[in-house]
Amino acid sequence: MFSRILIANRGEIAVRIIRTARRLGIGTVAVYSDADADALHVELADEAVHIGPSPAAESYLKASRIIKAAKAAGAEAIHPGYGFLSENPDFVEAVERAGLVFIGPSAASIRAMGLKDAAKRLMEKAGVPVVPGYHGEAQDLVVLATKAREIGYPVLIKARAGGGGKGMRRVDHPDDFAEALASARREAKSAFGDDKVLVEKYIARPRHIEVQVFGDAHGNAVHLFERDCSLQRRHQKVIEEAPAPGMTDAMRAAMTQAAVKAAKAIAYRGAGTVEFIADVSDGLKPDAFWFMEMNTRLQVEHPVTEMVTGLDLVEWQLRVAAGEPLPLKQADIALSGHAFEARLYAEDPARGFLPAIGTLSHLRFAEKAAGDATLRVDAGVREGDAIAPFYDPMIAKIIVHGKSRSTALAALGAALRETEIAGSVTNAAFLAKLSEHEGFAAGDVDTGLIERDIDALTAPAEMPRGTRELAALVASGLLDRAASDDPWGAIAGYSHFEALAYPVRLGRDEAVERLAVAIDGPERFTLSADEQSLAVRLRREGRGLLLTGPGIFLRATAARTAEGVTLFADGAAFHFAVPDPLERAETEALPGERLTAPMPGSVKQVRVSVGDAVKKGQPLLVLEAMKMEHAIAAPHDGTVEEIVAEGEQVREGMTLVRFAQDGNS
Ligand code: ADP
Ligand code: ADP
Ligand code: MG
Repeated sequence: MFSRILIANRGEIAVRIIRTARRLGIGTVAVYSDADADALHVELADEAVHIGPSPAAESYLKASRIIKAAKAAGAEAIHPGYGFLSENPDFVEAVERAGLVFIGPSAASIRAMGLKDAAKRLMEKAGVPVVPGYHGEAQDLVVLATKAREIGYPVLIKARAGGGGKGMRRVDHPDDFAEALASARREAKSAFGDDKVLVEKYIARPRHIEVQVFGDAHGNAVHLFERDCSLQRRHQKVIEEAPAPGMTDAMRAAMTQAAVKAAKAIAYRGAGTVEFIADVSDGLKPDAFWFMEMNTRLQVEHPVTEMVTGLDLVEWQLRVAAGEPLPLKQADIALSGHAFEARLYAEDPARGFLPAIGTLSHLRFAEKAAGDATLRVDAGVREGDAIAPFYDPMIAKIIVHGKSRSTALAALGAALRETEIAGSVTNAAFLAKLSEHEGFAAGDVDTGLIERDIDALTAPAEMPRGTRELAALVASGLLDRAASDDPWGAIAGYSHFEALAYPVRLGRDEAVERLAVAIDGPERFTLSADEQSLAVRLRREGRGLLLTGPGIFLRATAARTAEGVTLFADGAAFHFAVPDPLERAETEALPGERLTAPMPGSVKQVRVSVGDAVKKGQPLLVLEAMKMEHAIAAPHDGTVEEIVAEGEQVREGMTLVRFAQDGNS
């Protein structure tokens, strides 16, 4: 076994690899960019090497710098994690040339599976069923459009170098083919530096089921059962589970055998995933699934497999890379219980899942799972860490394991509702709602499930009654004094001479409200705003708060941060800005008639012009950021007074669109 390895990655996966290495007594070397100088993975490693500026292209993708760091630190092997250099065969060769071990498959295996078109041709030859479509060399519009017509609409255009759902467009009608092709190519070019595509039949009612495989250098290959990753948005996985709901023995046998066949066809070594698409128009059927692609690395969702097999896949990767045979034979690998993983992201479901950035000023995960389930949280950040614009905005993976699918799913929902994050908008409430979706609960999943119910799933949570009042109490700072055990503190607010009124300002949804809070006695307060007043009682219940009053019964937890107050209730987060009373132009600082860039990026397309009247929700422009295209829509009706130019690079916070002042808005 190795005595020291370098981890060429960041975030949760770097942290997760370090944990296993430590358990096995292997020393770890982290690498980091400027933005990650004080990141969790750096803190946990035995040693850390700075490899460059924040953009991944100048740090985590700099193969030569990483190899140099490994040599200098005395590491014998490099674990690439996922993403970044994990599926780059040139990197594998460079690592090996430097006399180091790449913890992963051979460069040849990666090359064989690296491009979806070549991989499909190879699998076809090996007798593995592949998705019908065109995966040849021709790339011009006329040929591809003809092929699409032959395949039959709807079709899916896919970047052959694609990954993470990028560079993919579903086309329902021949008239839209040219535009979809251009857009898929643009995204593929900027994400993968390769704009070649293939065209596939779009499967009517698809389920994404993948098989975890493992090979070693001694010719052995096994599978670790399947994962179902059908809950997707824009072809990206949202919640994954193992085993697949409704899986039959016949289907499992057919699928796992095809996966092992695929692995053997390329003499696969290490951890890999063979992804299949199944058409479930008639339920799961052993003759209705096809090979999509093979991911020649550890997958983001590998923890669900670890939970149901009780195995540590990173340990297996290390053993195989060190030349050991696979730790177990196929017959000794067993499936137990059910596991789910939800990907918690800094992104805004209400605004088309726009990635967000920010400092996680408050961060708390559930501490244990509900019932007899087990909880695992794989996070790459701590409270106070920033979600930087340079990388994937993942905050954590919430993973649960239960004896049955229903207990595990209930535990997932509970863990998500207990998640408290302030400082950035997140998809936690969306994930919690999804975990309660009826079809999902019934195991009736397909890749269209989220999209069909997207409005209900992304509708902003209703503020429970009393939320604003509770926020005002927390913002006033009186709470700490009134509830304090320190008698002097309590007395300071509780005056026998007169009920002192403390002014509080709360900013929410572009408006600032003024309220006054008066202490009436221990736990008792009066809140006034606009000549109305309300008497409430506030009790502490452990970490939580209970606010009662006329028509109010609210249980919540609260976080007071530098930016304001965030309340967590009913699985949702409600943020209120608390404007600095000394700041004069507070209304100008609130967003309203200006639409600003939520993150740095470049303007790919501008769809409206100055003077245009636009409707709420109308797409105004396409911003490319974090290697994805994001449509920016009008937040309300209005008239465009100013708009950025196509091709412009924007910094975060820069004005994209300015709306005309129409008097009272
Ligand atoms: P798939 O390619 O089938 O969607 P995964 O869901 O496992 O497989 O991974 C999604 C992709 O997103 C990865 O291939 C990787 O390129 C990218 N990705 C996600 N998170 C990160 C991260 N923290 N660092 C680098 N890349 C990431
Ligand atoms: P990536 O490398 O981005 O993961 P995949 O080929 O694995 O690309 O496809 C990603 C997702 O897109 C799949 O999980 C599936 O939901 C959907 N998808 C892919 N191919 C098809 C298809 N032919 N028909 C319907 N959906 C598809
Ligand atoms: Mg895939």
